[in-house]
Amino acid sequence: MKNNLDQDRKNLLKWYLQHQRSLPWRKSKDAYRIWISEVMLQQTTVTAVIPFYEKFISRFPNVQALSSARIEDVYEYWAGLGYYSRARNLHKSAQMIVQKHNSRFPESFQELIELPGFGPYTARAVASLAYDQRVGVLDGNVIRILTRKYGLDLNWWETVHRNKLQVLADQLANTDQSAHINQAMMELGATICTPKKVMCLLCPWIKSCKSYHEGNQLSRPRSKPKADFEMWQWHFKVLMKKKEQKIYLAENTQTPFLKKNWLPFSQAKKISKKPKTFHFKHGVTKYDIFVTVEKMTSITLPKASSGKGKWIPLNQISQINPTSLAKKIIKAIE
Ligand code: SF4
Repeated sequence: MKNNLDQDRKNLLKWYLQHQRSLPWRKSKDAYRIWISEVMLQQTTVTAVIPFYEKFISRFPNVQALSSARIEDVYEYWAGLGYYSRARNLHKSAQMIVQKHNSRFPESFQELIELPGFGPYTARAVASLAYDQRVGVLDGNVIRILTRKYGLDLNWWETVHRNKLQVLADQLANTDQSAHINQAMMELGATICTPKKVMCLLCPWIKSCKSYHEGNQLSRPRSKPKADFEMWQWHFKVLMKKKEQKIYLAENTQTPFLKKNWLPFSQAKKISKKPKTFHFKHGVTKYDIFVTVEKMTSITLPKASSGKGKWIPLNQISQINPTSLAKKIIKAIE
């Protein structure tokens, strides 16, 4: 195994050093920049991330700048990437790094994973890419390559099987070149060993790849069964001060999705049948949400409200809550 691993690393590194794409976050080993890029890359493709990344870094060039920014500004520079909870966690983590770690970016996987929004993937990616800690990253790209290369037909979404893949990724990265190994795996998955197309003739692992020799590359990894969809009915009661052009928003605690988003008062429930009437349908991951919107003329706040609330100028809604749901609610009452 050791000799195979050595040879696999050697082939992979040789390929990576020749073929790696020049990406803005690869130009330095700055943990802050690597962190921002990794979180953005969880949302979309490399090409789509580049302009967002460059804009974000020029506005918040380091952890201090992000920590002292207003969350509304962070949202503004995140707009278009979706998943605003990730922007909130970036902000929270930056504040923790400044306050608890004296602005020193934690170096180890164990310290990083304690920060808000740092899951096993992000903590490992930052520890390895910035500090060469010997940990392997495991994302969709790496899972695909490992299951194909080693011919593994396993339910990779189950913890026990995921842990087996993590061990393999850690073994590969157990070298003083862990940053390059991890980046090479991501690069190989993004450019050569892609989900629907494989370019095995260009792959540095063609000789030892089990799936290539079996000719069944595209059957791996196994498809994850689709999560059961849930239907929800969400009724918004929109309170406005017309003269002052203000709207009352409260932090959402009503639903398992869009938690802590600033939205008008609402009542939500899980349903088993599509309702006959609704203003619009909204989708969030596995949730189909049927939304109704009611404009309130009285400023008597509904008792069923929850969370803390505040009056917001209408023209500032997109800074407080940049989600498309907030935009749709406003449109429905216009
Ligand atoms: S040989 Fe083909 S299937 Fe195997 S790892 Fe390389 S690109 Fe993927």
